[in-house]
Amino acid sequence: MYRNISPEQALERLHKGNQRWLSGKLEHPNHDEERRRATAREGQKPFATVLTCSDSRVAPVVQFDVGIGDIFQVRVAGNVCGPDVLGSIAFAVHELGTPVVLVLGHTGCGAIQAALGGNLPEGAIPPLVEKLKSVVEQARRECPHCGPFTLGNHAAAINVRSVCREILDDSPVVRRAVDEGHTVVVGAMYDLDSGEVSWLD
Ligand SMILES: [Zn+2]
Repeated sequence: MYRNISPEQALERLHKGNQRWLSGKLEHPNHDEERRRATAREGQKPFATVLTCSDSRVAPVVQFDVGIGDIFQVRVAGNVCGPDVLGSIAFAVHELGTPVVLVLGHTGCGAIQAALGGNLPEGAIPPLVEKLKSVVEQARRECPHCGPFTLGNHAAAINVRSVCREILDDSPVVRRAVDEGHTVVVGAMYDLDSGEVSWLD
């Protein structure tokens, strides 16, 4: 099932929404009771899938100025990839036909900072941080004189690119949709302070 909106149109919608967020001219589309009832009755047709961090300061619906039923969100600390995440993305692409899969990293990411060598609680965090180790090592090589904040943001951008590749390499469903022109996989970084979304190549 593929939507009647092109990847280019979907990306433009995200871009324009972020511009409204930056300029303070929010339109708050699809926030009303009518939208709620219509999507409950007719099902969801989100125009984008967004894989992003669990960080409470990252809120795609707000930062892209969209509403109910617009974005299929997959969230995990450090926006890392794995079988469950891939399955959720494949569902969104294949069943819901989202024309965009956006991997959205952010500045000041705690998961990245943990991988850089912060203090870690025992338990579930270390395996997640393990996934970010090669990313952090690459950032250290590329940015030997950077302070922790800059280094972390550089690593977060490397991680976004790496996760984009993982999605394409490890999900045949997404790869096929991309090859057929139904969807695109793109990466971006969200700046917690300025609110700006910077699109990566
Ligand atoms: Zn984060």
